Amino acid sequence: MSETVIDVDVFAARARTWLAENMPPADPAKDTFFLHAATHPTDEQVLARAATCRELQRRLFDGGFAGICVPAEYGGQALTPAHQAAFNREIKGYDYPSEIQASTFIPCMAVLLEFGTEEQKLRHIPRMLRGEEIWVQLLSEPGGGSDAAGAVTSATRDGDRWVLNGSKIWTTSGWWGDWALCLARTNWDVEKHRGLTVYSLPMSAPGLQIRQIELVNGSKDFCEEFLTDVVVPDADRIGDVDAGWSVMTRWLHHERTISGGSPYVTGGGNRPNEGPYDLAALIGAARRLGTIDDSATRALIGEAQTSSLVLRALVESVTHKMAAGSLPHHAAAMPRLFGGTANARRAAIATELYGDAGVVWSPDEETSAQVGLGYLIRQASCIGGGTTEMARNVIAERLLGMPRERRADTDAFRDVPRGPQASGAH
Ligand SMILES: Cc1cc2nc3c(=O)[nH]c(=O)nc-3n(C[C@H](O)[C@H](O)[C@H](O)COP(=O)(O)OP(=O)(O)OC[C@H]3O[C@@H](n4cnc5c(N)ncnc54)[C@H](O)[C@@H]3O)c2cc1C
Repeated sequence: MSETVIDVDVFAARARTWLAENMPPADPAKDTFFLHAATHPTDEQVLARAATCRELQRRLFDGGFAGICVPAEYGGQALTPAHQAAFNREIKGYDYPSEIQASTFIPCMAVLLEFGTEEQKLRHIPRMLRGEEIWVQLLSEPGGGSDAAGAVTSATRDGDRWVLNGSKIWTTSGWWGDWALCLARTNWDVEKHRGLTVYSLPMSAPGLQIRQIELVNGSKDFCEEFLTDVVVPDADRIGDVDAGWSVMTRWLHHERTISGGSPYVTGGGNRPNEGPYDLAALIGAARRLGTIDDSATRALIGEAQTSSLVLRALVESVTHKMAAGSLPHHAAAMPRLFGGTANARRAAIATELYGDAGVVWSPDEETSAQVGLGYLIRQASCIGGGTTEMARNVIAERLLGMPRERRADTDAFRDVPRGPQASGAH
C-alpha cells in the first residue's frame, strides 16, 4: 500500500476535493461513447476526444488516482476494490477518460498483470496508467468471435521472434489504439484449445494493415486488421507457448466485467452519466408527452428503474462472492448477461417513452438523438464483450453443471473442417 492504511472515507474525501479542483464537469447532454454519439463524430473529433482522454488519464495519474488497485511498482496506488468503488462514486458528474477503460484497463492491463513478465509489466502498465498507451483487443476473426478458441490467425516461430499472418475484426478503437493483445494459433496438430498463444504488439507494426468499418449509424470506430508477416519478438509473448487458452479464460473473464465490478475500471462503465435513461429524464419525457398517468407508462418507468437497481445489486453481490472465493470467476457471466439484456431493454423502453422525439429529431436535439441511436445500436450490449448467448452457455455449463455442448472439433485443429472464410494460413 502507498500508505500503511488509508481509510476509505478519508480517501473518498481527498478524492472529492481533488476532483473539484482538477477534473472538468461532464456534459450531461453528451454521450461520449463513440458508438452512441448523437452526431457521428468525424475522425478528427474522435482523435481530439482520444487526446482529451489521454490528458484526463494523465491528470488522474498525477493526482494519485490512476490504477487504484494496481501494485505501486507498476505505477498504481496499491489500494483495494473498496477504494476504487469509493472513487467511482465520487467521480460521477465529472468528465473522465471513459473510452479507454475498456479495452486498455480491462481486459488488457488486467491480463498483463496476471500473465505478463516483470519486464512487460514495468514497460507497459505505467504508460497505460499515464494515458500514454491505449490498448485494443485483436481477438475476433471474420470466421467468428464466439468461438475464440477457433482462431486461425497463425504465429510461426522464427528464432527469437514470431511471424503472424491472418485477420482480425470488430476491434474497437483499432485505428487510434497504440498496442494490442492478439490471440494466434501456434500449433495446428493438437485440439484447438491447446494450440493457441497470446502476443502483445504495437498497432503500428509493419505488415499490420488497419481498415475502419463504417456502421449503418455512421460510426467508424470498429476496425478490421490484416496481418501479413507481422514480426513479434518472443519477448512480447504473453504467457507460455500453446498455453494461450489459460490466458484467454482470464481475458474473457475480465471482458465480462464490462457490466461492472472490475477493480481496474474508473467510473464503473463507459458513460459519464445515464443521460436520457436517467429516472428523472424518463419521467420528464413522459410528462412532456402527457403520458405520465398511464399505467403502461408507469410500468415501463418502473421496469427501467428496477433493472438498473438489480444490475447494481447483482454486480456488487457477484463481485464480492468471486473475491471471497464462494463463486468461481465464471460467475462474471451473470452480470454480463443481465447487463447486456437490461441495456437493450432499457433502450427499447426509452424509445417508447420518448415517443416521436426518439424516432425523429433535429440535429440540435442531442437527447432525443441519443434515444434513437441508442435504440438502433441496442443489440451491441448483447454482443460486445462476448454475446449474451455465450454467457448463458457459461452459466449453464460452468455454474449450474449442466451437460457440456456437443463438439465436432475435438480432433487436431488441422483436421477440423472449416469454411472458406476460416480456413487460415495452414
Ligand atoms: C460493441 C462491440 C465491441 C466489440 N469490440 C471488440 C474488440 O475490441 N475486439 C474484438 O476482437 N472483438 C470485438 N467485438 C466483437 C465481439 O467480440 C463479437 O462480435 C462476439 O464475440 C460475437 O462474435 P461474432 O460477431 O463473430 O458472432 P458469432 O460468433 O458468429 O455468433 C453469431 C451468433 O451465434 C451465437 N452463437 C455462436 N456460438 C454459439 C454457441 N456455442 N451457443 C449459442 N449461441 C452461439 C452468438 O451468440 C451470436 O448470436 C465487439 C463487438 C461489439 C458489438
